[in-house]
Amino acid sequence: MNTAKSEQLYKKALNFMPGGVNSPVRACRNVGTVPLFIDRAEGSKIYDADGNEYIDYICSWGANILGSADRDVISAVKSACERGLTFGACHAGETELAQRIKRNFPSIELLRLVNSGTEAVMSAVRAARGFTHRDKIIKFEGCYHGHSDGLLVRAGSGLLTNSVPDSTGIPLGYTENTLVAEYNNNDSVEKLFEKYGNETAAVIVEPCAANMGVVPPNPDFLPFLREITRRYNSLLIFDEVITGFRIGLGGMQGKYKITPDLTALGKIAGGGMPLAVYGGKKDIMELVAPLGSVYQAGTLSGNPAAVSAGNATIKKLEESPGIYSVLEEKSEKIETAFKSAGLNVNREGSLLTVFFTDREVRTYSDVITCDKARYSEYYRFMLENGIYIAPSQFEAMFVSAAHSDEDTEKTCDVIKNFMIKKF
Ligand SMILES: *Cc1c(COP(=O)(O)O)cnc(C)c1O
Repeated sequence: MNTAKSEQLYKKALNFMPGGVNSPVRACRNVGTVPLFIDRAEGSKIYDADGNEYIDYICSWGANILGSADRDVISAVKSACERGLTFGACHAGETELAQRIKRNFPSIELLRLVNSGTEAVMSAVRAARGFTHRDKIIKFEGCYHGHSDGLLVRAGSGLLTNSVPDSTGIPLGYTENTLVAEYNNNDSVEKLFEKYGNETAAVIVEPCAANMGVVPPNPDFLPFLREITRRYNSLLIFDEVITGFRIGLGGMQGKYKITPDLTALGKIAGGGMPLAVYGGKKDIMELVAPLGSVYQAGTLSGNPAAVSAGNATIKKLEESPGIYSVLEEKSEKIETAFKSAGLNVNREGSLLTVFFTDREVRTYSDVITCDKARYSEYYRFMLENGIYIAPSQFEAMFVSAAHSDEDTEKTCDVIKNFMIKKF
């Protein structure tokens, strides 16, 4: 595999951006390789600057559920761009997108369009605090909700203690209201509520954790979160930035029939453009400015080009009956290949992660037992054999509608060969 051009581009980029990248995981430091510089992507394939072709299972971290450069999405964006890249004013596309979202997420009665998942979650938390007049929030270890100050907390230890930030540059005061519980551990939540229940504005959760690798919820976990938040007059926020429009049109809440009070969407909702959403119950969202006292705004919010990509993507998902069952079948085939090779795999719909540990992975403490060196070996083997996956153990593998049977068969063969070669 020749990656001379990527190496050259990386060297140059290092002079201008921290680590040569605009988002840390792209630097591939976890797996000890030079990042590939991408030239273009189409359908299920992605091509680097040296002309190498890969089957793409990152899909821009899940955004490209239709595959890359879908013709219908590109043509919608082109026509939107012709009419102006930004107005900073109202346009009909925004309402069309809001309507599409509301129809698929009945829990979202009113919503706001923003520019990134980080912004969506941050704003949802602000609305929850404004509505409840409470300051504390409960999040889960290993769940990622963007990089806003108050949420950048994972807390390596101590379930009942207030948390320290994961990053420098965040004053302790910004995270002292962020409590951390263990994912899939109802007891850890109950204990926090016993102590802080009447101060807790909301529980925020990835209804299927996908940022510590994929960790689906135990059957009683989400119903329990719904019940305990109601019991304490606290709100439930589903961060469905990854799972929205991926685990089905209605996300995890549609699949598991749980109604959160607030929801954040991103990735697929923007069809590959910078767009995200937060919304929920009418009486909460009516507190958002200009109707109420919770301030939130954005120069590029509802950007017409991004909105057109979101509309075209969701329209296509809505109008392709069976698209999710086909995704399920393809993903199950890959899951089976991993299992047959003796690998430990978690799957929720078209999200998968292979964990290099012998433990069944249900919590963050299981996740961190993984052998990262073995993951790096696996990553490099996959890449050398034309399979593009996340350069980190703690991310998901994303299957798209553009992956052909030929693609999945090749992927299954490479998985099989990895185990033959390496063990
Ligand atoms: C990606 C992601 C975010 C952050 O979204 P950005 O657009 O990267 O800011 C938040 N929550 C979850 C669950 C995500 O997967």
